Amino acid sequence: MPQISDEYYYNIAKEFISNKNSVIVTENAKTLDTEYIVINSQIGTQLYVLTIHVPYGRALWQDLAHDPKYYLKLGKKRLFLLDMDGTIYLDHDLFPETPGFLQAVKEQGGRYLFLTNNSSRSVNAYVERLAGMGIAATAEDFMTSVNALIAALKQRPPFRLCYAFGTKSFRDQLTEAGIPVTDKLSDEIDCLLVGFDTELAFQKLEDACILLNRGVEYIATNPDWVCPTWYGSVPDCGSVCEMLWRATGRRPEVIGKPQPAMVQLAMAATGCTEEETVVVGDRLYTDIACGVNAGVDTAFVLSGEGTLEDLEKSEVKPAYVFKHVGELQEAMEASRN
Ligand SMILES: [Mg+2]
Repeated sequence: MPQISDEYYYNIAKEFISNKNSVIVTENAKTLDTEYIVINSQIGTQLYVLTIHVPYGRALWQDLAHDPKYYLKLGKKRLFLLDMDGTIYLDHDLFPETPGFLQAVKEQGGRYLFLTNNSSRSVNAYVERLAGMGIAATAEDFMTSVNALIAALKQRPPFRLCYAFGTKSFRDQLTEAGIPVTDKLSDEIDCLLVGFDTELAFQKLEDACILLNRGVEYIATNPDWVCPTWYGSVPDCGSVCEMLWRATGRRPEVIGKPQPAMVQLAMAATGCTEEETVVVGDRLYTDIACGVNAGVDTAFVLSGEGTLEDLEKSEVKPAYVFKHVGELQEAMEASRN
C-alpha cells in the first residue's frame, strides 16, 4: 500500500473542491471545509478516497492505486459510454435530465455511444426506440454485445460454421458481418454462439446440448441473468447458459459487460484514450465493472437498479456516484476549466 502524506490528501481534496461538486472525508474525519471532508478507505487491496458533498449527499471515489493525474476531469472527457435502461430512460420513459446531459456532452466536444448487452434486437430497433422518445441517434451511436462478439470473432482464426442460438436479428447481424452461421445442426459446426433469445424453442436447447457434448467452442454475448420487462423480468442469456451448464457442465466465454471488450472496441472506433473515456451506468456488477475492467473512469447513477446500499456492499467501486445524469451534467459543467 502506498504511503500517502497529508499534503497529498489535501491536494486531492482541493482539486475536488475546485470542481465544486464534491466533498471529501478521511478516516480521521479530517475536515477541510465546512462542506467538504476527506476520508481514506481501504477496500480489499485497493485504497480509495471517499468524497461526499454533504448538502447533496453526493459521494465520489478516487482509486489511489492510480495516479490521480491519469484521469481527466469529467468536464474534459471526450467519450461517454452510456448504459440505456435505468441510465437514460426507464422502460418507455426518458428521464427529464437526459436531453440536457446529451447536449452537454456535445458542448464540451465529446461524443456518446450507447452500450447495451442486449443481443436480441438490432441497432436499428434501438434507433427507432430512442427516436420515439425524442432522442435523435444513428446506428453509429450504438455498441451492442453483438458488435463486440463480431469484433472478437474477427480477431481469431475463423470458425468453419457457427450455430447461432438467438433471434433472427442476431443471425442476420452475424451473417451481414461475414460470419458463417446456421440454425440447423450439422457436422461442420465448430462453434456455438449464444445470445439473448426471445424466440427460444426447445429444439435449440437440444441442438446446443448436442454441440456442447461434441466439444465445440462456446461463446455467449452477455452474462445477464434477467432482462427487465414491464411485468418484472424474463430469463436473459446468462440464465439460458446456466441451464446449458446444468445439462452439459460447459460454461461459455462471455463477451458483453462486465468484460472490457465493448469499451475497448468503442475506444478503438472513436480514437479515444482510457483517460478520455467514462462509462456511465446503473448496475455495479455489469456497467461499472466493465469500465473498471477496461481501466477507465466510471459514473454510477442511482436512477435505475443500483442503490447506495449496493455500493457499500460491492467490491466494484465507481469513480463517481450521481443521483442521475443531470447531476453528472452539473459535475461536467463545473469541471470544464
Ligand atoms: Mg441499466
